[in-house]
Amino acid sequence: MINGSKIYIENFLDEFMLLEYKDRNNIAARKHTLNVFHQLMPKFIKHEDIIAESFSSHLNEFTGSKNIVVIGAGYGGLTAALRLERLFRKLPFFNIHLIDKYPFHTIKTQLHEAAVRNEEVSIPLDKILRKKKIHFHLGGVNFIDVKNKNVHLEINKEEAILSFNYLVIAIGSKVNYYNIPGMEENSFSLQTLYDADLIYEHISRTCALSASETEQSKREDNLRFVIGGGGLSGVEFAGELADHTAKCVTNFNVSDNDVEIIIIEGADRLVPFMDKDFSMRIEKKLTDKGIKIIKGEKIIKRSSDKVFLSGGSTIKTKNFIWTGGIRVSDLLKNSGLKTGVAGRVMVDEYLKAENNKCIFAIGDSANALNPNTGKPVPAAAQFALQQGRLSAKNIFAEIYGGKKEQYYPKVAGEVVSLGKHLAVGWMALPFIKKITFVGFLGRLLKAAIKEKHIFLLRKESRNWIKY
Ligand SMILES: Cc1cc2nc3c(=O)[nH]c(=O)nc-3n(C[C@H](O)[C@H](O)[C@H](O)COP(=O)(O)OP(=O)(O)OC[C@H]3O[C@@H](n4cnc5c(N)ncnc54)[C@H](O)[C@@H]3O)c2cc1C
Repeated sequence: MINGSKIYIENFLDEFMLLEYKDRNNIAARKHTLNVFHQLMPKFIKHEDIIAESFSSHLNEFTGSKNIVVIGAGYGGLTAALRLERLFRKLPFFNIHLIDKYPFHTIKTQLHEAAVRNEEVSIPLDKILRKKKIHFHLGGVNFIDVKNKNVHLEINKEEAILSFNYLVIAIGSKVNYYNIPGMEENSFSLQTLYDADLIYEHISRTCALSASETEQSKREDNLRFVIGGGGLSGVEFAGELADHTAKCVTNFNVSDNDVEIIIIEGADRLVPFMDKDFSMRIEKKLTDKGIKIIKGEKIIKRSSDKVFLSGGSTIKTKNFIWTGGIRVSDLLKNSGLKTGVAGRVMVDEYLKAENNKCIFAIGDSANALNPNTGKPVPAAAQFALQQGRLSAKNIFAEIYGGKKEQYYPKVAGEVVSLGKHLAVGWMALPFIKKITFVGFLGRLLKAAIKEKHIFLLRKESRNWIKY
């Protein structure tokens, strides 16, 4: 199809979307409109021309071609796909594919902000992938056929198969309920944007309803929030929640004393993977905000309105958020890949799945070892980003015979936000071992980390990404 008509259709779509949906970037609606347009104008338009390059779901055309497939457009996968596109741009023998269940990239490290104050924490993928030679497929992978080298996915309720020469697995992690009775059915989780939306709605409703509750004890029960798990996401969520409920107190005219926030942590301190000194600071800041902390007790059961603790006590609450652990989807184990603790794929020093020449795993999905300590690298965004870049580089080296690089995690710092204006953390600086931040300065650093992520995405994709 000639370029003129392609531009015409895109302009037409832009205008139609603005009129009909008040948004040009509603991907599903745009694609639907495009399909309808295609059905109505078969004489003038060839289908393959009008499917935007980055949003193709027609996989047959790739059978027999050389494909590098990345599953997951989170921190690791998106970085890997963009870096692959850059490396292979002048060598167009390989198609780069990116698959995700959602049409947006979630800035997961800020998810607690979306859950409490509806902050924008996602970027539409079409903005990032615009003009990139990356074929994006909106669908969920449900099986990886390791032997025949293809992935099975569901696109728009239809099964599709995409073959690969190289595969990067970056599907992140999901909630681990550890088979605790009643936990999955009776708790909120905080792993996806959808989870955050549910929590936001629940908190808003709870605060509003409690304002009209005349019975004191009922009001207190309504406004008791319990967070299971005092790790990173648990404490960050608690800090935001304390700020938010303080606002509700004013807005809905309920008493300060009616609101209670409790964190339950099984270990003997909060955020146990951080230095003890930081754990203590975090605990102090949270207790200053009025949050109660129960340590060294495990949750053994959850019902619709109670949390049962290993010490024998129970806490009454309908507002329970479980942030107690993560694991990787069974999809990887079921596909025959060698997995370790929490279902993470065992990888070698180059991030390649053990015993597999053409599959890489990165981020939360991978059990990458720190060569200095011999211990698995923690599940964190900064490591997923580093691994995304390295996996792309190593695939390029494999194909064109360069030297592959071993993975060494670099820790740039750790920052834990504890509300809108408060954070605790440290940053590595040249020549100085660590510089620590507490309070508003820490919060600025946390905001800077988010901005840096967007900045790097802009740089990597060479697109002006607004969010
Ligand atoms: C509330 C919260 C706060 C956090 N705070 C911090 C922090 O301050 N600092 C830090 O370093 N880390 C933090 N983390 C952890 C960090 O977010 C993760 O370590 C990071 O997102 C992992 O990146 P990833 O690329 O492995 O996976 P993700 O970023 O989770 O991306 C995985 C992607 O894969 C997609 N996907 C999953 N399954 C499929 C499938 N079957 N088919 C297709 N697509 C699929 C998902 O839709 C998703 O887009 C936090 C996490 C949470 C939940």
